[in-house]
Amino acid sequence: MVIGGGVAGMASALTLADNGFRVHLIEREPFLGGWAASFCCKATETCSKCSVCLLPEKLHQVTAHSLISILTSSEIIGVSGEPGSFKVTVRQNPRFVDPEKCTACGVCAELCPSEPKGIYLPFPEAVPQAYAINKANCLHYKGEKCTICRDECPLEAINFTEGAQRRELSVGAVIVATGFEVFDAKEKGLLGYGSYPNVLTSLDLERMVAQEGLIKLPRNGKELRSVSFVQCVGSRDEYIGRGYCSQVCCKYAIRFARMLKYQNLETKVTIFYLDLQTAGKGFGEFYEESKDTIEFLQGMPVEVCENPSGELEVRYEDFARGTVERKSFDMVVLSVGISPRRDAWGLARVLGINLGAFGFFDTKDDAESTETNVEGIFLAGTCPGPRDISDSISHAVQAASRAIETLKRY
Ligand SMILES: Cc1cc2nc3c(=O)[nH]c(=O)nc-3n(C[C@H](O)[C@H](O)[C@H](O)COP(=O)(O)OP(=O)(O)OC[C@H]3O[C@@H](n4cnc5c(N)ncnc54)[C@H](O)[C@@H]3O)c2cc1C
Repeated sequence: MVIGGGVAGMASALTLADNGFRVHLIEREPFLGGWAASFCCKATETCSKCSVCLLPEKLHQVTAHSLISILTSSEIIGVSGEPGSFKVTVRQNPRFVDPEKCTACGVCAELCPSEPKGIYLPFPEAVPQAYAINKANCLHYKGEKCTICRDECPLEAINFTEGAQRRELSVGAVIVATGFEVFDAKEKGLLGYGSYPNVLTSLDLERMVAQEGLIKLPRNGKELRSVSFVQCVGSRDEYIGRGYCSQVCCKYAIRFARMLKYQNLETKVTIFYLDLQTAGKGFGEFYEESKDTIEFLQGMPVEVCENPSGELEVRYEDFARGTVERKSFDMVVLSVGISPRRDAWGLARVLGINLGAFGFFDTKDDAESTETNVEGIFLAGTCPGPRDISDSISHAVQAASRAIETLKRY
């Protein structure tokens, strides 16, 4: 069993299935993909190797594999037994749309009067290819008499009375690939997120580019002339209990910066950083090449304020000069880091596995290990600590290889 259907969970599932093992892939959300499903390609005239394009391939392979059964909207509520013969209880929450009947024709969403839509497919290639109802947005579940989607569905796939189902599964090994949470930038109130429309997080930027292609100022839709990225928002910060590096933010910020310069050479781009993390094959050269067009400023922004014309003023400590300085930008992007999931302790309790110092799942030996304190239960991807997409996939393949050893032993 693989718990979590992000890039790591899918990579583990595929390695197991390619080796002839039957896999139950359990995903809590109605769709597979995890965070990478909301990211954009950051290519310029050349590929920037952000790895986001690996996701559609994985989604396709997982769906097509006859040995992988996918359970979405599902979570683990009980585990007993031992390596080679675990008994797992899964609760599958209602989707309210029958994936066997739905052909993703989209009539339901077109007719849905709610905004944001109460019934949705997050992106065209989503897996499964079936709409799902989001109760938080659906008028029917807000107490109104709306049943338009159900009444108009040509395949009668929608059922508002669907309930949760319980399943008992027998599995030989378990791989946990439940990923991470993105740091909530509102915790850094002085940086203006939530107060000023042109202060965005990197996740907002990922979604804006993925959905609209170009970056415009949210405040007035105007073209971007200057932007700054603020690194280490929610990382390398002992004060808030996150003294670790998130591993991915310097890379995605430099890729974004290059993409913005590529879209418009006139856009001024500044990256405020504490300590740049440019390790990784070829990334050092990528950074060196970027220095001519992008300003890298070693300093710590302490406050962002909006002036009456809508410009954002960043007050920052300049480490080289030892002074507090000010600079103005059209847009400020907060490079939010990777945080442990707040609900990780619940799953840790069900599985009997340990959590580590920062709240990620604990690995038995070193940080690269995939083993837990429970034999037969393994970790993959970012749930034991920050990793980018390609490292998450390698880690997940390693976890699957260890699980195969267990499956062969018992
Ligand atoms: C803003 C931002 C931008 C980034 N940009 C890049 C980039 O450009 N390139 C790059 O290589 N990396 C990037 N990353 C890192 C990338 O997001 C991760 O490497 C990748 O998402 C890790 O995949 P994962 O499967 O470990 O976790 P996730 O993507 O978090 O997937 C975990 C899955 O498990 C599911 N799940 C959680 N709990 C449960 C449960 N109890 N039961 C069942 N299912 C559960 C979740 O719903 C989710 O689908 C970025 C990260 C951030 C924060």
